[in-house]
Amino acid sequence: MTTILTRHTTEPTLEIDLSSIAANTQRLARAATGSVMAVVKADGFGHGLADVARTALANGATWLGATSLAEAIAIREAELSAPVLSWLNPVDADAWTAARHRIDLAVPSVRHLDAFVEAAAGHPLRVHLHLDTGMARDGAAPCEWLDLVTAARRAELAGTAQVVGLMGHLAWSNEPGHPANAAGRQALLHGAELAARAGLRPSVRHLAATAATLTDPSTHFDLVRVGAGLVGIDPSGRTRLRSALRLTAPVVQVRSVPAGVGVGYGHRHVTDRATTLALLPVGYADGLPRAASSRAEVVVAGRRRRVTGMTSMDQVVVDLGDDLVEPGTEAILFGPGDDGEPTVADWARWAGTIPHEIVTGIGARVRRSIR
Ligand SMILES: *Cc1c(COP(=O)(O)O)cnc(C)c1O
Repeated sequence: MTTILTRHTTEPTLEIDLSSIAANTQRLARAATGSVMAVVKADGFGHGLADVARTALANGATWLGATSLAEAIAIREAELSAPVLSWLNPVDADAWTAARHRIDLAVPSVRHLDAFVEAAAGHPLRVHLHLDTGMARDGAAPCEWLDLVTAARRAELAGTAQVVGLMGHLAWSNEPGHPANAAGRQALLHGAELAARAGLRPSVRHLAATAATLTDPSTHFDLVRVGAGLVGIDPSGRTRLRSALRLTAPVVQVRSVPAGVGVGYGHRHVTDRATTLALLPVGYADGLPRAASSRAEVVVAGRRRRVTGMTSMDQVVVDLGDDLVEPGTEAILFGPGDDGEPTVADWARWAGTIPHEIVTGIGARVRRSIR
């Protein structure tokens, strides 16, 4: 048995490397034929809304995007003055506050337009008309589009709203060349044509997110909305972007066990030989997917070690084999992969999910350290 001396750490920590976000933004800005909106929803994909926004704006993005109005207001509270769009709001959203903060609202229906205009109470509203370009998710159904552009033009003439943009979203952009992408592009072109006939002159039409930004310039129009790519995820799998996250935790306890010992809840693992087990104080409440139990690996003392047994809410056990480490030794759960450590993409694979779900799921009690 060998005791290995290694780096020590005191608490679970998520290191966020802003230089990776900067490099990814530059890469996306080079790929885009028009402008870039940095999408910082879900706390900047778990990387910190204000830090991601500020880094992206310093590296080629000129717009910011978020899902909810609350997220858009958080952008303004971080004293960022770039144009901001919030695209998913209920009819009773506080459009008055949006207008006062110069936050653009996406509008998916006449009902939303009327409600937003009324709530804004005379403050001129900046809106982006949102067309469903083939997802049956958010945006106006094509059969409602003519009513929407007509109502929006009426609001412009009444001075209550200004149509700044037209937007859609692609269901299949992770598969470049899928026919739904060309259909989505055609749908937006047709929607823009109807908007023009109604007298609207929006300054930006936007459709592409990260994958289409990297793979299909024909979908870029005037502006692309990129989120995942900023933090190193390319849903198309065509590009190597850089992950900005590194998750570490200290070994809390080390124990030697004989063969035949059941580990953790339900004894999901029974040791088949004498071995050493190390305990880490991170679990599914911290974002380690339970579905990755017994499959995931972490680095302890320079080597990959298997997570063994069921992942608990607050802890996991890893199998060190014949090695012994001191309590306090740093375990690396994931990182950019430079030193052979698992990546976010590995964890997603082990859990049967996508990297987005891993990066947005790291729990609030994990300490954040910005670099
Ligand atoms: C999340 C989101 C984006 C960003 O998509 P990525 O693939 O993460 O770049 C763009 N537009 C809308 C409407 C979104 O919800």
